[in-house]
Amino acid sequence: MTDLERHSYDVVVIGAGGAGLRAAIEAREHGLRTAIICKSLFGKAHTVMAEGGIAASMGNVNSNDSWQVHFRDTLRGGKFLNNPRMAELHAREAPQRVWELETYGALFDRTADGRISQRNFGGHEYPRLAHVGDRTGLELIRTLQQKIVSLQQEDERETGDAEARLKVFAELTVTDLLLEGEAVSGAFGYWRESGRFVLFETPTVILATGGIGKSFKVTSNSWEYTGDGHALALRAGATLINMEFVQFHPTGMVWPPSVKGILVTESVRGDGGVLRNSEGKRFMFDYVPDVFRGQYADTEEEADRWYKDPDNNLRPPELLPRDEVARAINNEVKEGRGTPHGGVFLDVSTRLPAEEIIRRLPSMHHQFKELADVDITAEPMEVGPTCHYVMGGVEVDADTAATRVPGLFAAGEVAGGMHGSNRLGGNSLSDLLVFGRRAGAGAAAYLESLGDKRPAVSEGDLDAAATVALAPFGNDGGENPYTLHQELQQSMNDLVGIIRREGEMREALERLAELRRRASVVGVEGHRQFNPGWHLALDLRNMLAVSECVARAALERTESRGGHTREDHPSMDPAWRGVNLVCSQRVDGGIDLVHQPVPAIRRDLLELFDRKELAKYLTEEELAVLDAPAP
Ligand code: FAD
Repeated sequence: MTDLERHSYDVVVIGAGGAGLRAAIEAREHGLRTAIICKSLFGKAHTVMAEGGIAASMGNVNSNDSWQVHFRDTLRGGKFLNNPRMAELHAREAPQRVWELETYGALFDRTADGRISQRNFGGHEYPRLAHVGDRTGLELIRTLQQKIVSLQQEDERETGDAEARLKVFAELTVTDLLLEGEAVSGAFGYWRESGRFVLFETPTVILATGGIGKSFKVTSNSWEYTGDGHALALRAGATLINMEFVQFHPTGMVWPPSVKGILVTESVRGDGGVLRNSEGKRFMFDYVPDVFRGQYADTEEEADRWYKDPDNNLRPPELLPRDEVARAINNEVKEGRGTPHGGVFLDVSTRLPAEEIIRRLPSMHHQFKELADVDITAEPMEVGPTCHYVMGGVEVDADTAATRVPGLFAAGEVAGGMHGSNRLGGNSLSDLLVFGRRAGAGAAAYLESLGDKRPAVSEGDLDAAATVALAPFGNDGGENPYTLHQELQQSMNDLVGIIRREGEMREALERLAELRRRASVVGVEGHRQFNPGWHLALDLRNMLAVSECVARAALERTESRGGHTREDHPSMDPAWRGVNLVCSQRVDGGIDLVHQPVPAIRRDLLELFDRKELAKYLTEEELAVLDAPAP
């Protein structure tokens, strides 16, 4: 191919959010030539939007906290379906990653005695989220970028070229991974501005592409989140797990339209905000499930006392894990106690003085005042569930972030397993840092094992990738990508959304098959220079593949757990706790789905829990491990 820009790197990181940047820093620290690619501007990733904070058991505000308590909370949140090794590594290493960020220059909010302050969040037993007001993600990205610049300055001093070992390619979309045999040999993409094709020859790719929210109609996700990394992995022969588990954040704005879907951070509830229905009732007390009884307050008085005295009172039920709160809101609205625009009220205005709200939640206050003329210090917000996060993702080895494809690694939201069936707030930012670092180190170890034998890119595969990318220009009068996208979003929202039913999911799969057929003849007009219709046409194939995984897995799992609620199977079933649903893609593009056991929880980790609590989740056979003589 002649009109092709070619680069050669040791490591190519796709994604410049927290996971991608931390992975790239690690790869560069191992001395490797590393490229960071991102679809949008450098610095504009979901990570930057994260508000609440980073969960890490530093114990600065309550010294009872420890990695063991964090591990327990994470498994409870994920309803025990988490990959236990990932949850363990995450809980153990998160504090180191936060302190490390400080050494990179992060300026966290402080406690009165000068330590990093930590705030309460849903599902976390102790105040655990290190934060910078409600702009934590911004500080995280700023700091990681600053670290990258400092490494580039080091390289400039050493080699005279700041980009000798670490270079950013912004506004470049990767559309395919290239393989020699089964191993990664490169990545293929296009510059969004010029449409020009680019080849990265590389034996290792780290996927850090974030989530899939744009497949749903109401979402807190922005335009980049079309499941590209999930789909790239599938096409390269890797597997996706847990795709049925999609998190609907309970509090997205439902009104006014200018802010529909935009997130209201959980910190609003962590700092005292309460949920009320149209009758003015604080309804969450009616929705504490049996597995959480005894951990949450029964009365408003006790719940309110908890904010001042958490050691001697139980926490408010507004701080239950997200899946519970989202289902409760959904039910209130369904039973006719919703707001005029189909949500419930979230009120912090009557709970804290205006100046305190502005101090603690500056972005929330500013953003809603500017975008929607809603003053959160003076009136309640109207909120409801919004598609926010995907727990499912690329199946990886916990320690190295390696996928089944040699040379392919994944970290951050695109990877699966860590959060089980439901992620706790704050556990994503820590996940990005812990597993971003591990992915960088994993790639370095893999490269070392390769020695000088690097897989080669075949010209045939390169031509094939270019042909697929150009196909929409050849379909004159073909299907409109915007229409297809709208229909996809509507179908996923209506038929595979927060409450799922067998018949509807079957209908969704039929619609997806039809959309896939129509997408094969999607057509675009114009030329390759900045052409959003073309970009969307290419993203569609990813969204369709990923949506099919979500729908297939959701239909297969006949129980309700975490971010997967079946109206026809409303309870959690211990027999399903040990099952991961694993998707792979056939050569004809179809999705296969198999059952695979969830890795067993080590005995010493099981012993962190009360046996009575374990009995709510585990089968008798699983519990029997605890009866065997200690090794
Ligand atoms: P992202 O930060 O999503 O970055 C993905 C990167 O991949 C981007 O650079 C994108 O351009 C790039 N990319 C994607 N596809 C391609 C492609 N084909 N080619 C090239 N580049 C590509 N979590 C918390 O723990 N605490 C919080 O307080 C919190 N608040 C949140 C608030 C909001 C509004 C949202 C949306 C999320 C929040 N989350 C929070 C979740 C968390 O922010 C995300 O899960 C996390 O930032 C994902 O990070 P990542 O590094 O995996 O990917």
